[in-house]
Amino acid sequence: MKAINRNRRQFLKYSGVGLAGLLGLSLKQAGAAAPYKVVVIGGGFAGATAAKYLKMWGGDSVDVTLVEPKSVYYSPILSNLVLNGQSSAKNLAFTYADLQRKYRVTHKAHRALTINSGANKTVLLENNETLAYDRLIVAPGIDFKYVNDYDINKVPHAWQGGEQVELLRSQIEAMNNGDTFVMTVPPTPYRCPPGPYERACVVAHWLNQHRPGAKVVVLDANPDIIVEKESFGSRFTQYGVEYHAGVQVTQVDDASKTVTVSGAPEATYAADVLNVIPAMRAGANALLDNAGLLSGDWAPVSAKTFESTEVAGIHVIGDAQGTGVPKAGHIGNAEAKVCAEAVLNLLHGFPVYASPKINSACYSPVSTSEATWLTATYEYSTVSDSWVAIAPSKAGGAPAVSHYQEMFGWTNNLFSDTFS
Ligand SMILES: Cc1cc2nc3c(=O)[nH]c(=O)nc-3n(C[C@H](O)[C@H](O)[C@H](O)COP(=O)(O)OP(=O)(O)OC[C@H]3O[C@@H](n4cnc5c(N)ncnc54)[C@H](O)[C@@H]3O)c2cc1C
Repeated sequence: MKAINRNRRQFLKYSGVGLAGLLGLSLKQAGAAAPYKVVVIGGGFAGATAAKYLKMWGGDSVDVTLVEPKSVYYSPILSNLVLNGQSSAKNLAFTYADLQRKYRVTHKAHRALTINSGANKTVLLENNETLAYDRLIVAPGIDFKYVNDYDINKVPHAWQGGEQVELLRSQIEAMNNGDTFVMTVPPTPYRCPPGPYERACVVAHWLNQHRPGAKVVVLDANPDIIVEKESFGSRFTQYGVEYHAGVQVTQVDDASKTVTVSGAPEATYAADVLNVIPAMRAGANALLDNAGLLSGDWAPVSAKTFESTEVAGIHVIGDAQGTGVPKAGHIGNAEAKVCAEAVLNLLHGFPVYASPKINSACYSPVSTSEATWLTATYEYSTVSDSWVAIAPSKAGGAPAVSHYQEMFGWTNNLFSDTFS
């Protein structure tokens, strides 16, 4: 156990929390004790940002190891533009080279198998390597709750970027005039609240232009369009999207490309292309469950530090955490910074920043040239140890060309703040 006084002296020697990074000072660690070890599981928007900022702010006082099996990360953000041919998975691909070279994050390209949070705090990787940690940050995104076994290469979800999105694009391209694209919207909470409605618009707009007579059917598990109803609803009308609310998927058949839903009445829909976006739960579910981090589908945390309320010394950020803020990449990036700052302060025996704020932002293309947006800001409430919306969420209003253009400035900032 490291003593607080030693921590304080050492931390000041290293430059003080955040100061090296924030003030751009280049202070060197001279003859210091061994650095603290932080392991980050998952290299998406939340995990990659946490790893980068831990090193940027913590300097040589901390060794950061990012455990992420993929060497290339494909962003789900903007992935609906792959479906209308405006982008490709390659355009949305990021590596961990900058994190390693510029910030000296160690990348282990293996899956984390088990977490031992006992006296010897360790993470076991699939290559049998064991990593010791002083604090652990877990950011594994989402897993899906499939209603039955089916082949996701025949019925892709295309909700995690990359190959699945390319696959769905090729299925859409192969559609004929008059064909039917059926997609489902999962029950809340799920990754990216506007995302499914955005997808319905982008696909319907493309089909209207390239496959006359083809139609989009949306089967929504929620009682209504959950965000930006005016914007998406008016485009559904314009594009002829058939929309059914309050219907839950009960059966998927990959051979006949049919999906059965409960509701009033129960019905089976036949598709030429079937895109089921299943209900979701925290990613690496078995890993988190075995570590005792879950309560239900998500990982409960203290909002101020993102430290698990179930297991001390482990923090959960991004889509997997259960504070109730939207599950999205922009806010995952913000959570990562709050968490990185808290982890450094906790390691060095300093007080944790008392009033952090985070915000979310989603841009939604609805055609090849127009988009909408939605944002919300949250502040930490000491009273309830939760994130409280400062004001009602703001939306960009009617889809516009200007929003579509701004969208790329926003994504470029987010992508580079996370991976460069
Ligand atoms: C169509 C679409 C549009 C979207 N648009 C927006 C938008 O406009 N704005 C916005 O903010 N968000 C948007 N999102 C949501 C955003 O992509 C996600 O919320 C974000 O990726 C979540 O980040 P994360 O780091 O929690 O998870 P992820 O990005 O999924 O990263 C998790 C990582 O953990 C790794 N992992 C999993 N298990 C293990 C393990 N056992 N060991 C090691 N690593 C593991 C995975 O390989 C993965 O790389 C959109 C999503 C979609 C699908």
